[in-house]
Amino acid sequence: MSSRPIEQSFDVLVVGAGHAGTEAAVLAARLGARVGLVTSAIETIGQLSCNPAIGGIAKGTVVREVDALGGIMARATDLAMVQFRMLNRGKGAAVWSPRAQCDRGLYRRAVRALIERHQLLHVVQGTVARLLLDPQSREVRGVETLEGRAFAARTVVITSGTFLRGRIHIGTETRLSGGRAGEAPAVHLAEQLEQAGLAVARFKTGTPPRIDGRSVDFSGLERQDSEVEALDYSWSHFWTTPRRDSAGTRHPAQIPCWITYLEKPGKKLIEERYRESAMYGGAIAARGPRYCPSVEDKVLRFPTADRHQIFLEPEGHDTSELYVNGLSTSLPAALQMEVLRTVPGLSNVRMTRAGYAIEYDYFPPTQLLPWLETRAIPGLFLAGQVNGTTGYEEAAGQGAVAGCNAARKVLGKPPVILGRETSYIGVLIDDLVSKGVDEPYRLFTSRSEFRLTVRQDNALGRLAPLSLEIGLLSDEEARMVSTRLGDVERAVRFARDLSVSPEQVADVLAAAETSPVGQPVKIIDLARRQRVSLRTLLDTVGVGQELSPDSVVTADLEIKYAGYFERERVHADRLRRMGSFALPDSLPYESFRSLTVEARQKLAVRRPSSLAQAASIPGVGPNDLQNLIIEVERWRRVAASASHAS
Ligand SMILES: Cc1cc2nc3c(=O)[nH]c(=O)nc-3n(C[C@H](O)[C@H](O)[C@H](O)COP(=O)(O)OP(=O)(O)OC[C@H]3O[C@@H](n4cnc5c(N)ncnc54)[C@H](O)[C@@H]3O)c2cc1C
Repeated sequence: MSSRPIEQSFDVLVVGAGHAGTEAAVLAARLGARVGLVTSAIETIGQLSCNPAIGGIAKGTVVREVDALGGIMARATDLAMVQFRMLNRGKGAAVWSPRAQCDRGLYRRAVRALIERHQLLHVVQGTVARLLLDPQSREVRGVETLEGRAFAARTVVITSGTFLRGRIHIGTETRLSGGRAGEAPAVHLAEQLEQAGLAVARFKTGTPPRIDGRSVDFSGLERQDSEVEALDYSWSHFWTTPRRDSAGTRHPAQIPCWITYLEKPGKKLIEERYRESAMYGGAIAARGPRYCPSVEDKVLRFPTADRHQIFLEPEGHDTSELYVNGLSTSLPAALQMEVLRTVPGLSNVRMTRAGYAIEYDYFPPTQLLPWLETRAIPGLFLAGQVNGTTGYEEAAGQGAVAGCNAARKVLGKPPVILGRETSYIGVLIDDLVSKGVDEPYRLFTSRSEFRLTVRQDNALGRLAPLSLEIGLLSDEEARMVSTRLGDVERAVRFARDLSVSPEQVADVLAAAETSPVGQPVKIIDLARRQRVSLRTLLDTVGVGQELSPDSVVTADLEIKYAGYFERERVHADRLRRMGSFALPDSLPYESFRSLTVEARQKLAVRRPSSLAQAASIPGVGPNDLQNLIIEVERWRRVAASASHAS
């Protein structure tokens, strides 16, 4: 326990105010817990350490799930968004993924304002140096900071990101202790947690250089504008009192991105000198995120590629600085500059910040219970990058669950566990605690067996009932949820009850390249067809204008995919029952093209003997398993007919 006087007592004390920490603190406060949010620097609350973008494939769905639980990421994004795109538009609405580029400064300020709305949530600046543990029970009792302050707490949530024994590398010569550029690492806390019995391992990640936009020649570059109608990430508009611009959009004025390429000269430079990078020069041994490779990795892995795409992304309204997305690197700073200057549009560029790689401690997540409490130290919860994940959204999703459960523990309530069938957050946490990680974990749609059921548009419908049941939403929010979900039902009812004549829909069907109808039909029958939008059909008969656009999208998808939901469930059940499906040792995994590259590589190394064993390998997802069964059956048939023929 502490020899210092206890300054304040909390129910839940959250260490770190990044993306996991702020969500944990907000959800705990929503449940009525007295929350302390202790973070090294108040100015960096909600800091986007790397790319100032929120969302993307599967991640955008998580943002909306956190929002449905009462979290703040979507609300802050609505206030800070300067460019919006719906990814995967070409692939069918079930897998659409919202992604928003944010003004970095606005995002930070929005997060801070949103957390300060909670009267029960107190922000404290301080670097936590050690946990206070009960000498007998080993239960957590509070924390002590480097600055000599002590706080009591009944539960503690650690969300310290890349800060635990963080070490920054730029080239092979430059090594700095740091949790992020310009910020000190958390060394004492890491040492104490290890001594207290938590297993620790190391990962690394990296970030690209930033440049001065005033030194870029944009004339030959491809411009990428925001989609015209920027979506609202959050369902709860009244929280965010958004600014409206002259065009009537809810978000700050939109700013374009620019596309350019790393071409032959830049690739050649890297091919010749990649050993000067921290990663390839032997300075770093830890593993990095497969899906955010450094430019050195890309050049070496794809030697025949003509060029690699680079996005120049705005950092915000009040700066000309640009983020060079696609050029993450740990090459020496001078060489980064040389590489940058080979890129079209950047021949006279000024680099404001050099890219770097960072190595840090994480806690292998199999030592966690499914509600993110550690087995070793009762009352201690871990969330975010410290659990071996990468990404803001993955951190936010875990933070929400950890904060909620830390508060519920104090309130004497059973933990909440999100299921795989109800959320991507459930998939993420289940993967972490049951399989562990062997490289930084990032979410993808392929990690879920419920990709049609669990979508970005229906997050509120999936999770708000739970939020309401456990008291995460206010009365006013509950009324908004009820209106919003009521809109979905009304849209489906319109579709079921109303008919359209052949003349009314002739143009709509022709535009969707689908066959005309010869007699009046129910709207629902036409809405089942691909490319025929429910919104257009409702407009045709002049109903439903008052329904929120998102609700109509959800109703549309529920109608279109109704037949598939059951099939998805049947496949998932079948997978669970087929654990004993045998996998011969000689399987040619590398040739199983329907599996992800990650799964092929890992299966080829591990050579599991059954499907259940394959399922326990980190990175081998349910989709891979389903495809593996098909590939193995095909391989068996080919092998049998070959032996028959001989
Ligand atoms: C250089 C770099 C590159 C990255 N590149 C990518 C990428 O390419 N793709 C990607 O998806 N993600 C990337 N990330 C990761 C992304 O930033 C994290 O996944 C995300 O921020 C994790 O959120 P978090 O809440 O877990 O931690 P963070 O956002 O890191 O927040 C940690 C918080 O804890 C505080 N803190 C730490 N220790 C203490 C302590 N002892 N006491 C009090 N406060 C403390 C810090 O001040 C900070 O507020 C990168 C991160 C870095 C640093």
